[in-house]
Amino acid sequence: MTTRKTEKPQAAPVSAKPRIRKIIPLLEKQYSSAEIALHYANPLELLVSTILSAQCTDERVNIVTKSLFTKYKSAEDYAGADLKELESDVRSTGFYHNKAKNIKQCCRLLVDKHHSQVPQTMEELLDLPGVARKTANIVLQKAFGVIEGIAVDTHVRRTSKRLGLTENEDPGKIEQDLMRIVPKDKWARIADLLIFLGRNACVARKPKCQTCALNKLCPSAFTFSKNQSTKKQEAN
Ligand code: SF4
Repeated sequence: MTTRKTEKPQAAPVSAKPRIRKIIPLLEKQYSSAEIALHYANPLELLVSTILSAQCTDERVNIVTKSLFTKYKSAEDYAGADLKELESDVRSTGFYHNKAKNIKQCCRLLVDKHHSQVPQTMEELLDLPGVARKTANIVLQKAFGVIEGIAVDTHVRRTSKRLGLTENEDPGKIEQDLMRIVPKDKWARIADLLIFLGRNACVARKPKCQTCALNKLCPSAFTFSKNQSTKKQEAN
């Protein structure tokens, strides 16, 4: 498919590159233990968990997968599962019709094309039903140590925008913006750090700018409520 001129991603703000180099060490200090919260013991479990985590908390996914992974141990198990039963097994993660269908079809493809193993390339992963770049990046990085990009979830998307690291809304374009400014050896780490920032300080409704380690570098700091705006003016 050709990309029309008008759809060209907007470039990340000019000042973003020097700023990200100050942001990363601060985040590393603040969230040194930041790690993926999903529980998994092998690439297949990580793939299934990540598909289930769309529009769902990691805590809920971990509750569901605790029994799911006891019941389904291989790609063959999911591929041969009764769809209604699989839907019921993953129901509480939401969007369970689609998630169950994608997991079953995805595992059918693993059985038929990949010797029942999770593939280790971006191209092959993106070919699987229910797998977009976020899931593919997570599986490649966490299961195989392969770094091809930056996983952009809802927290990475929100915090990147607020921090002025991107002006885009589309996760694919945000990923491209981040890849342009984040040093490659930090591509895997930055997603974990921004997720922790988004969960702990830069929460969706009332970001905790007062106590956020980035409030001197962030163009959105103290802009979310009357009180906070007042505090910013006072600080100036
Ligand atoms: S200063 Fe506020 S808006 Fe900026 S990253 Fe921190 S919590 Fe989010």
